[in-house]
Amino acid sequence: MFVPERRRTVAVRIGGLAIGGGHPVAVQSMTNTDTADAAATADQVAELFLAGSEIVRITVNTQAAAAAVPEIRARLADRGLPVPLVGDFHYNGHVLLRKFPACAAALDKYRINPGNVGKGANHDQNFATMVQCAIDHQKPVRIGVNAGSLDQELLGELMDTNARSSIPQDAQAVFLEAMVQSALRSAHAAEELGLRRDQIVLSCKISKVQELVRVYRALADRTDHALHLGLTEAGMGIKGIVGSTAGIGILLQQGIGDTIRVSLTPEPGGSRTQEVRVAQQILQAMDIRPFLPQVTACPGCGRTTSTYFQELSQQVERFLHERMPEWKRSKPQVANLQVAVMGCVVNGPGESKAAHIGISLPGTGEAPRAPVYEDGVQVATLEGPTLAQDFLARIEAYVARMA
Ligand code: SF4
Repeated sequence: MFVPERRRTVAVRIGGLAIGGGHPVAVQSMTNTDTADAAATADQVAELFLAGSEIVRITVNTQAAAAAVPEIRARLADRGLPVPLVGDFHYNGHVLLRKFPACAAALDKYRINPGNVGKGANHDQNFATMVQCAIDHQKPVRIGVNAGSLDQELLGELMDTNARSSIPQDAQAVFLEAMVQSALRSAHAAEELGLRRDQIVLSCKISKVQELVRVYRALADRTDHALHLGLTEAGMGIKGIVGSTAGIGILLQQGIGDTIRVSLTPEPGGSRTQEVRVAQQILQAMDIRPFLPQVTACPGCGRTTSTYFQELSQQVERFLHERMPEWKRSKPQVANLQVAVMGCVVNGPGESKAAHIGISLPGTGEAPRAPVYEDGVQVATLEGPTLAQDFLARIEAYVARMA
């Protein structure tokens, strides 16, 4: 197994979870409910947390939203869910955190966007007010720069300096540098105000993969603050998944990133938890963190004239997903389990032997029997209408024997 070496960052505690400083890369997500609706928001936070989101961010945009935060926290506590809860503030965070101290106390981290805290003298004052709230309540903050809301005064300053330079850079390079400087200058200002380094997480999100890589590499080269990664506004479906996987994957491979979020736009009526599953799968595919048993399944080809092996792969995936919550408690090592479901004799026995447990289904023209392998050894041959149930029972028995 190759695991990229992580760049060392300062550890930050967010509620009961530690990130950075060599701790595992954490998965986070964000609700899309109206936070003022405490019941709906608590339900979605719980859904995301139970799906594996280790940090959940909620919008805190109005007085009604800020007033609802303690109730959201109480509802989660009633369900026994210790979710690290982050408040996302823009424009009025300095007002809301001061006016609603119970909200400030109930949250585990505040997200501050330095591009959305006001202009001129108000910018510094509002930023200082939010940082002081974090100091008073002993909370960490994420200084979250976003390309779509970059501090325009800082960008203008760097553009002017660049225009006077004898070797001017292109405008996009200056823009990315402004993102990095916005994060670094804000972190420095927060520390000057009294926030500890282990209370600061940084992010610089942008929606294009190559720019994301460029900006985070520059950031990682210039600070040891913990970094939150994500391709912002990744989009829907395959486009969002592929873009996020490419951007986050390249950075993780370079040891950059202490938490990740996959910012998918859900399908209408689709589950918000999809982004959690994608984030987990990125970490698992890269051998950085195991979450679920992995199924090796071949794509099928002209040798598979029925959809049976696709259906069996799907059944196995569903079974593992359904059983994992219990196994997680009783057999956490099951997260490393490798299962193979293969379509014919060409690669079936080889892949099945390489997995902990695997089945090689018969392709067209082969005898209608499916050898099962455990730890590289053929242990059974399945056939007939109970084949799927028999294979699932063998997986269950294999897990029961795992030390
Ligand atoms: S294992 Fe067999 S069925 Fe699956 S892709 Fe390879 S040749 Fe085709």
